[in-house]
Amino acid sequence: DAQEFRLHYQPLVDLQSNRVFGAEALLRWHDKDLGEISPAQFIPIAEETGLIIALGTWVMHTAIAQAAIWNQQGQHFRISINVSALQFQQANFVDILSSALKQAQLNPDCIELELTESILIRDAEETLKKLTAIASLGVRMSIDDFGTGYSSLSYLKRFPISKLKIDRSFVMNLPDDESDIAIVTAIINMAHALKLTVIAEGVETEQQKDLLTSLHCNEIQGFLIARALAPHEFESKHLQQNAKFG
Ligand code: C2E
Ligand code: MG
Ligand code: MG
Repeated sequence: DAQEFRLHYQPLVDLQSNRVFGAEALLRWHDKDLGEISPAQFIPIAEETGLIIALGTWVMHTAIAQAAIWNQQGQHFRISINVSALQFQQANFVDILSSALKQAQLNPDCIELELTESILIRDAEETLKKLTAIASLGVRMSIDDFGTGYSSLSYLKRFPISKLKIDRSFVMNLPDDESDIAIVTAIINMAHALKLTVIAEGVETEQQKDLLTSLHCNEIQGFLIARALAPHEFESKHLQQNAKFG
Protein backbone atom coordinates (compact mmCIF):
# COMPACT_ATOMS: atom_id res chain seq x y z
CA ASP A 1 0.00 0.00 0.00
CA ALA A 2 2.89 2.36 0.70
CA GLN A 3 4.51 1.47 -2.64
CA GLU A 4 7.68 0.30 -0.91
CA PHE A 5 8.21 -2.79 -3.09
CA ARG A 6 10.03 -2.86 -6.44
CA LEU A 7 11.24 -5.51 -8.80
CA HIS A 8 14.83 -5.64 -9.91
CA TYR A 9 16.03 -7.76 -12.81
CA GLN A 10 19.14 -9.92 -13.00
CA PRO A 11 20.37 -10.86 -16.47
CA LEU A 12 20.34 -14.49 -17.66
CA VAL A 13 23.03 -15.34 -20.21
CA ASP A 14 23.12 -18.06 -22.84
CA LEU A 15 26.61 -19.59 -22.84
CA GLN A 16 26.64 -20.53 -26.50
CA SER A 17 25.81 -17.09 -27.86
CA ASN A 18 27.01 -15.10 -24.82
CA ARG A 19 23.80 -13.09 -25.04
CA VAL A 20 21.42 -11.87 -22.38
CA PHE A 21 18.21 -13.69 -23.28
CA GLY A 22 16.19 -12.86 -20.20
CA ALA A 23 16.11 -11.80 -16.58
CA GLU A 24 15.02 -13.05 -13.19
CA ALA A 25 12.63 -10.73 -11.35
CA LEU A 26 13.79 -10.27 -7.75
CA LEU A 27 11.72 -8.49 -5.15
CA ARG A 28 13.18 -5.51 -3.30
CA TRP A 29 11.77 -3.75 -0.24
CA HIS A 30 12.82 -0.33 0.97
CA ASP A 31 11.30 0.56 4.32
CA LYS A 32 11.42 4.25 5.15
CA ASP A 33 12.73 3.60 8.67
CA LEU A 34 14.65 0.35 8.31
CA GLY A 35 16.10 0.97 4.86
CA GLU A 36 16.72 -1.84 2.35
CA ILE A 37 15.57 -5.25 3.62
CA SER A 38 16.72 -8.49 1.99
CA PRO A 39 14.12 -10.86 0.52
CA ALA A 40 15.92 -13.66 2.35
CA GLN A 41 14.65 -11.89 5.49
CA PHE A 42 11.14 -10.78 4.55
CA ILE A 43 9.97 -13.55 2.18
CA PRO A 44 9.91 -16.22 4.92
CA ILE A 45 7.84 -13.86 7.10
CA ALA A 46 5.51 -13.06 4.23
CA GLU A 47 5.10 -16.83 3.80
CA GLU A 48 4.33 -17.37 7.48
CA THR A 49 1.78 -14.57 7.61
CA GLY A 50 0.16 -15.34 4.27
CA LEU A 51 1.05 -11.91 2.90
CA ILE A 52 3.07 -13.69 0.22
CA ILE A 53 -0.16 -14.30 -1.68
CA ALA A 54 -0.89 -10.60 -2.21
CA LEU A 55 2.80 -9.89 -2.70
CA GLY A 56 3.23 -12.73 -5.16
CA THR A 57 0.23 -11.56 -7.19
CA TRP A 58 1.73 -8.06 -7.35
CA VAL A 59 5.08 -9.56 -8.46
CA MET A 60 3.38 -11.57 -11.17
CA HIS A 61 1.47 -8.58 -12.58
CA THR A 62 4.47 -6.28 -12.40
CA ALA A 63 6.91 -8.75 -13.99
CA ILE A 64 4.45 -9.64 -16.76
CA ALA A 65 3.84 -5.95 -17.50
CA GLN A 66 7.63 -5.42 -17.68
CA ALA A 67 8.01 -8.42 -19.99
CA ALA A 68 5.34 -6.93 -22.25
CA ILE A 69 7.32 -3.69 -22.46
CA TRP A 70 10.60 -5.47 -23.18
CA ASN A 71 9.01 -7.61 -25.85
CA GLN A 72 7.36 -4.75 -27.68
CA GLN A 73 9.87 -4.30 -30.47
CA GLY A 74 9.59 -7.89 -31.61
CA GLN A 75 12.49 -9.16 -29.49
CA HIS A 76 12.13 -12.37 -27.57
CA PHE A 77 12.96 -11.69 -23.97
CA ARG A 78 12.02 -14.03 -21.14
CA ILE A 79 11.39 -13.02 -17.53
CA SER A 80 11.47 -15.60 -14.78
CA ILE A 81 9.31 -15.18 -11.71
CA ASN A 82 9.81 -16.83 -8.31
CA VAL A 83 6.75 -18.57 -6.97
CA SER A 84 6.32 -19.48 -3.32
CA ALA A 85 4.66 -22.71 -2.18
CA LEU A 86 1.68 -21.04 -0.52
CA GLN A 87 1.06 -18.93 -3.63
CA PHE A 88 1.21 -21.97 -5.89
CA GLN A 89 -1.28 -23.84 -3.68
CA GLN A 90 -3.98 -21.19 -4.13
CA ALA A 91 -6.90 -22.63 -6.06
CA ASN A 92 -6.94 -19.62 -8.41
CA PHE A 93 -3.19 -19.52 -9.09
CA VAL A 94 -3.47 -20.56 -12.74
CA ASP A 95 -6.36 -18.11 -13.30
CA ILE A 96 -4.34 -15.21 -11.92
CA LEU A 97 -1.43 -16.13 -14.19
CA SER A 98 -3.57 -16.54 -17.25
CA SER A 99 -5.51 -13.30 -16.74
CA ALA A 100 -2.29 -11.33 -16.11
CA LEU A 101 -0.93 -12.66 -19.43
CA LYS A 102 -4.12 -11.72 -21.25
CA GLN A 103 -4.24 -8.28 -19.70
CA ALA A 104 -0.67 -7.58 -20.82
CA GLN A 105 -1.22 -9.28 -24.19
CA LEU A 106 2.02 -11.12 -23.66
CA ASN A 107 3.21 -14.26 -25.43
CA PRO A 108 3.21 -16.81 -22.54
CA ASP A 109 6.53 -18.17 -23.80
CA CYS A 110 8.12 -14.96 -22.48
CA ILE A 111 7.42 -16.03 -18.89
CA GLU A 112 9.07 -18.73 -16.84
CA LEU A 113 8.01 -19.69 -13.32
CA GLU A 114 10.73 -20.68 -10.86
CA LEU A 115 9.36 -23.37 -8.58
CA THR A 116 11.14 -24.93 -5.64
CA GLU A 117 11.45 -28.61 -4.91
CA SER A 118 9.21 -28.13 -1.86
CA ILE A 119 6.32 -27.14 -4.16
CA LEU A 120 6.73 -30.23 -6.27
CA ILE A 121 7.02 -32.70 -3.44
CA ARG A 122 3.51 -32.03 -2.07
CA ASP A 123 0.33 -33.72 -3.23
CA ALA A 124 1.70 -35.15 -6.46
CA GLU A 125 -1.58 -35.54 -8.33
CA GLU A 126 -2.84 -32.05 -7.52
CA THR A 127 0.57 -30.61 -8.42
CA LEU A 128 0.69 -32.48 -11.70
CA LYS A 129 -2.73 -31.08 -12.65
CA LYS A 130 -1.61 -27.53 -11.95
CA LEU A 131 1.72 -27.89 -13.74
CA THR A 132 -0.06 -29.34 -16.75
CA ALA A 133 -2.50 -26.41 -16.80
CA ILE A 134 0.39 -23.92 -16.63
CA ALA A 135 2.31 -25.74 -19.36
CA SER A 136 -0.77 -25.74 -21.58
CA LEU A 137 -0.96 -21.95 -21.24
CA GLY A 138 2.51 -21.97 -22.85
CA VAL A 139 4.37 -20.79 -19.74
CA ARG A 140 7.66 -22.52 -18.94
CA MET A 141 8.71 -23.80 -15.55
CA SER A 142 12.04 -24.40 -13.91
CA ILE A 143 13.19 -25.83 -10.60
CA ASP A 144 15.05 -23.23 -8.53
CA ASP A 145 17.85 -24.05 -6.05
CA PHE A 146 18.00 -27.51 -7.55
CA GLY A 147 19.76 -30.07 -5.39
CA THR A 148 19.13 -28.43 -2.03
CA GLY A 149 15.64 -29.77 -1.25
CA TYR A 150 14.04 -33.15 -1.59
CA SER A 151 14.87 -34.03 -5.17
CA SER A 152 12.56 -36.75 -6.34
CA LEU A 153 13.86 -37.97 -9.66
CA SER A 154 10.46 -39.36 -10.51
CA TYR A 155 8.95 -35.86 -10.68
CA LEU A 156 11.60 -34.82 -13.18
CA LYS A 157 10.31 -37.58 -15.37
CA ARG A 158 6.62 -36.87 -14.89
CA PHE A 159 6.30 -33.12 -14.55
CA PRO A 160 6.34 -30.68 -17.50
CA ILE A 161 9.46 -28.83 -16.29
CA SER A 162 11.87 -27.42 -18.85
CA LYS A 163 14.86 -26.28 -16.82
CA LEU A 164 16.93 -26.99 -13.71
CA LYS A 165 18.63 -24.14 -11.92
CA ILE A 166 21.75 -25.37 -10.11
CA ASP A 167 21.88 -23.84 -6.66
CA ARG A 168 24.55 -21.27 -5.88
CA SER A 169 25.96 -23.43 -3.07
CA PHE A 170 27.27 -25.93 -5.68
CA VAL A 171 28.71 -23.17 -7.88
CA MET A 172 30.36 -21.11 -5.14
CA ASN A 173 33.42 -23.32 -4.68
CA LEU A 174 34.02 -24.16 -8.31
CA PRO A 175 36.50 -24.87 -9.78
CA ASP A 176 38.42 -26.02 -6.66
CA ASP A 177 35.99 -28.31 -4.87
CA GLU A 178 36.04 -31.76 -6.45
CA SER A 179 32.74 -32.83 -4.90
CA ASP A 180 31.02 -29.76 -6.30
CA ILE A 181 32.51 -30.44 -9.74
CA ALA A 182 31.11 -33.96 -9.50
CA ILE A 183 27.64 -32.76 -8.40
CA VAL A 184 27.43 -30.05 -11.05
CA THR A 185 28.62 -32.46 -13.76
CA ALA A 186 26.03 -35.01 -12.68
CA ILE A 187 23.18 -32.46 -12.63
CA ILE A 188 24.09 -31.17 -16.11
CA ASN A 189 24.38 -34.66 -17.58
CA MET A 190 21.16 -35.85 -15.98
CA ALA A 191 19.29 -32.74 -17.14
CA HIS A 192 20.50 -33.16 -20.71
CA ALA A 193 19.63 -36.86 -20.72
CA LEU A 194 16.10 -35.83 -19.68
CA LYS A 195 16.08 -33.10 -22.40
CA LEU A 196 16.06 -30.30 -19.84
CA THR A 197 18.00 -27.05 -20.02
CA VAL A 198 20.40 -26.20 -17.18
CA ILE A 199 21.23 -22.81 -15.72
CA ALA A 200 23.82 -22.19 -12.99
CA GLU A 201 23.17 -19.39 -10.52
CA GLY A 202 25.66 -17.44 -8.43
CA VAL A 203 28.41 -17.35 -11.06
CA GLU A 204 30.94 -14.80 -9.82
CA THR A 205 34.21 -15.61 -11.61
CA GLU A 206 35.51 -16.23 -15.14
CA GLN A 207 36.91 -19.58 -13.92
CA GLN A 208 33.45 -20.69 -12.85
CA LYS A 209 32.02 -19.61 -16.19
CA ASP A 210 34.79 -21.43 -18.10
CA LEU A 211 34.27 -24.65 -16.18
CA LEU A 212 30.48 -24.49 -16.64
CA THR A 213 30.98 -23.85 -20.36
CA SER A 214 33.28 -26.86 -20.65
CA LEU A 215 30.67 -29.00 -18.86
CA HIS A 216 28.07 -27.83 -21.47
CA CYS A 217 25.92 -25.95 -18.99
CA ASN A 218 23.44 -23.96 -21.12
CA GLU A 219 23.00 -20.74 -19.20
CA ILE A 220 24.43 -18.73 -16.31
CA GLN A 221 23.37 -16.00 -13.93
CA GLY A 222 25.45 -14.18 -11.34
CA PHE A 223 27.43 -11.19 -10.23
CA LEU A 224 30.03 -11.91 -12.96
CA ILE A 225 27.44 -10.57 -15.42
CA ALA A 226 25.49 -8.24 -13.12
CA ARG A 227 23.49 -7.93 -9.93
CA ALA A 228 19.76 -7.45 -10.11
CA LEU A 229 19.14 -3.99 -11.57
CA ALA A 230 16.31 -1.48 -11.60
CA PRO A 231 14.39 -1.61 -14.93
CA HIS A 232 15.92 1.57 -16.40
CA GLU A 233 19.44 0.39 -15.51
CA PHE A 234 18.73 -3.02 -16.98
CA GLU A 235 17.53 -1.41 -20.18
CA SER A 236 20.56 0.80 -20.66
CA LYS A 237 23.10 -1.89 -19.73
CA HIS A 238 21.62 -5.02 -21.24
CA LEU A 239 18.85 -4.36 -23.70
CA GLN A 240 20.38 -1.60 -25.80
CA GLN A 241 23.65 -3.53 -25.92
CA ASN A 242 21.79 -6.59 -27.10
CA ALA A 243 20.05 -4.66 -29.81
CA LYS A 244 23.35 -3.16 -30.96
CA PHE A 245 25.36 -6.36 -31.07
CA GLY A 246 22.59 -8.88 -31.59
P1 C2E B 1 16.65 -17.11 -5.70
O1 C2E B 1 15.38 -17.17 -6.45
O2 C2E B 1 17.49 -18.33 -5.68
O3 C2E B 1 17.43 -15.87 -6.30
C1 C2E B 1 18.80 -15.79 -6.44
C2 C2E B 1 19.43 -15.00 -5.33
O4 C2E B 1 20.84 -15.06 -5.45
C3 C2E B 1 19.09 -13.50 -5.39
O5 C2E B 1 19.10 -13.03 -4.05
C4 C2E B 1 20.28 -12.93 -6.15
O6 C2E B 1 20.49 -11.56 -5.94
C5 C2E B 1 21.39 -13.76 -5.58
N1 C2E B 1 22.52 -13.85 -6.50
C6 C2E B 1 22.50 -13.87 -7.84
N2 C2E B 1 23.74 -13.99 -8.36
C7 C2E B 1 24.59 -14.04 -7.30
C8 C2E B 1 26.01 -14.17 -7.18
O7 C2E B 1 26.75 -14.25 -8.16
N3 C2E B 1 26.52 -14.21 -5.91
C9 C2E B 1 25.73 -14.12 -4.80
N4 C2E B 1 26.33 -14.14 -3.61
N5 C2E B 1 24.38 -14.00 -4.88
C10 C2E B 1 23.82 -13.98 -6.12
P2 C2E B 1 17.93 -12.12 -3.47
O8 C2E B 1 17.47 -11.15 -4.51
O9 C2E B 1 18.40 -11.62 -2.15
O10 C2E B 1 16.74 -13.15 -3.26
C11 C2E B 1 16.82 -14.18 -2.31
C12 C2E B 1 15.68 -15.14 -2.45
O11 C2E B 1 14.43 -14.50 -2.11
C13 C2E B 1 15.48 -15.66 -3.87
O12 C2E B 1 16.39 -16.69 -4.14
C14 C2E B 1 14.04 -16.14 -3.79
O13 C2E B 1 13.98 -17.39 -3.17
C15 C2E B 1 13.42 -15.12 -2.87
N6 C2E B 1 12.70 -14.13 -3.69
C16 C2E B 1 13.15 -13.00 -4.29
N7 C2E B 1 12.16 -12.38 -4.97
C17 C2E B 1 11.05 -13.15 -4.82
C18 C2E B 1 9.69 -13.08 -5.28
O14 C2E B 1 9.30 -12.16 -6.04
N8 C2E B 1 8.84 -14.06 -4.88
C19 C2E B 1 9.24 -15.11 -4.09
N9 C2E B 1 8.36 -16.02 -3.76
N10 C2E B 1 10.51 -15.22 -3.67
C20 C2E B 1 11.40 -14.26 -4.02
MG1 MG C 1 14.92 -17.79 -8.27
MG1 MG D 1 17.91 -19.91 -6.60
